Amino acid sequence: MKKSIMIVVILALSMVVCGIGPAFSASGTKFYTIGTGGITGVYYPTGGAIARIVNIKKKQHKMRLTVESTGGSVYNVNAIMARDLDFGIVQSDRQYQAISGLAEWKDKGLQKDLRAVFSIHPESVTLLAGADTGIKSIQDLKGKHVNIGNPGSGQRQNAIDALNAVGINPESDVKAEGLKAAEAPGVLLDGRIDAFFYTVGHPSGAFKEATAGTRKVSFVPILLPDSFYLKFPYYARSIVPISSYPNAVNKTDVPTFGVKATFVTHSSLPEEDVYNVVKEVFENFDNFKKLHPAYSLLTKEGMLQGLSAPLHKGAEKYYKEVGLLK
Ligand code: GLU
Repeated sequence: MKKSIMIVVILALSMVVCGIGPAFSASGTKFYTIGTGGITGVYYPTGGAIARIVNIKKKQHKMRLTVESTGGSVYNVNAIMARDLDFGIVQSDRQYQAISGLAEWKDKGLQKDLRAVFSIHPESVTLLAGADTGIKSIQDLKGKHVNIGNPGSGQRQNAIDALNAVGINPESDVKAEGLKAAEAPGVLLDGRIDAFFYTVGHPSGAFKEATAGTRKVSFVPILLPDSFYLKFPYYARSIVPISSYPNAVNKTDVPTFGVKATFVTHSSLPEEDVYNVVKEVFENFDNFKKLHPAYSLLTKEGMLQGLSAPLHKGAEKYYKEVGLLK
């Protein structure tokens, strides 16, 4: 191996081992990893959609995006802050909590280097129960065996907020499980839990799987008073579109609340690279939109909403250039 190539390889390897910055190949191509969620969610195919669009120009941009399945929003924020991941998909409420030092970040403090890139599809806090459990409203979860979500997930805090709002103590009034979203459908279908929460875009593989078994299942409405939305301004009323799941017991859309999926990174990522990621997604917007049915209502303007961390300078540069930002 030539000496210069060897130096590049050693440098690249040491950066990977130390967890600083992207890995890059001998040709100078940088490898950036996007943290997503479970493989039956919408984050995982969304990471794939972004990577697919951007990687078409991988030679020109000397950059290649790869996707990793993870435990979800909270895991992604923490891994980006630790520079173990370069980009991540994160619920809008979690983005707000991380930048403000709330919830899981109360002890760690403000995650000052978190940067917003764009927002993506809407996500609904979705509660699915075995039809044989008699659970017809969130209030009926009292005394039941419920998966509220793994600790790295976005949904865990959403489930806790919803339970608290109806006077159910998530620690003492339910038998709470911390399973990953990809495991929950199988465990529900086996009868080992009564219900599970998952904050996700629709349609998702997880709910397709959960509604395709022999145990009849139904989506449970989560109706909360105005005071809930005043207390948590990052939540908005939403629905589970029942047309996505014809095998569920429900025949009409199910009311609940929701957030948005957002794409985030670290302040230290090079401006040019984030600019190129945003540019490729926005300039191939119609192709991007076709990559998942959860994107059906996406607009370019809407993709700048639901962000609370400062915009990454590369994203800001692109939005100003095309007039999406003044
Ligand atoms: N909203 C979930 C979370 O933040 C992930 C949903 C998905 O993977 O589509 O953990």
